[in-house]
Amino acid sequence: MKFKFSRIDRLVEPPTWATHLGTFVHEVLEHFYQLDASERTIDAVRSLAGERWKVSDWEAQVTGLEKPQGSLRDFKVAAFDCLANLWKLEDPQQIELDGMEHEVLAEVDGVALKGYIDRFVFDADGRVVIGDYKTGAIPNPRFKSEDDKFFQLLTYALMLQEADQEETSKVQLFYLKHSAVHEVAVTPVKLNIAKGVIVETKEAVDASCASQEFVCNVTKLCDWCHFKPMCPAHR
Ligand code: SF4
Repeated sequence: MKFKFSRIDRLVEPPTWATHLGTFVHEVLEHFYQLDASERTIDAVRSLAGERWKVSDWEAQVTGLEKPQGSLRDFKVAAFDCLANLWKLEDPQQIELDGMEHEVLAEVDGVALKGYIDRFVFDADGRVVIGDYKTGAIPNPRFKSEDDKFFQLLTYALMLQEADQEETSKVQLFYLKHSAVHEVAVTPVKLNIAKGVIVETKEAVDASCASQEFVCNVTKLCDWCHFKPMCPAHR
């Protein structure tokens, strides 16, 4: 049902504190890794954050939020904590990224897909290591399986394979808020499982569009769903 509201009815979800935080941190990191390696210091990221804050008028964007979770200072502190935690995960002066915010378009088993890969590098064997920055909490394994957690990145791996004939060796999630990297080796089995989920999901969407019956997946997360007031499951 959420998919119907957002993708078929094209109802726009307003930005939230969490989405703004993620977008701002991604924006700073994209520019940060364009600096020469020797310039990638904590002072540089602080000054770059200030620069991007002004260029993209983040003050207006954050103050315009419907439900802010704190003050402008709280937002800046949360963002800078994420940025500073990068140094606990890697030495930015030792990394040269081969791609950032890379747009990829591909058909996987007849399903057209589009995505943006936060970052990737080629490893010593010429295979791709895909990375994704997360500014939110690490998912609780009781509610999200490992396969679910890496599904988005395994999908990118499938897309790179189809679009560019690039093989992916590993996918990584950089949980900046918690200074943790979760990673998994990419195997044919994992790719086949992700492919199966993509195809099944597309089939389910097609069937729902044909019957005009959309399933309401009622969970505790409904309390955070923008569409709850109009959702048939909550009337
Ligand atoms: S309120 Fe729950 S069931 Fe309804 S669209 Fe949102 S997530 Fe789905």
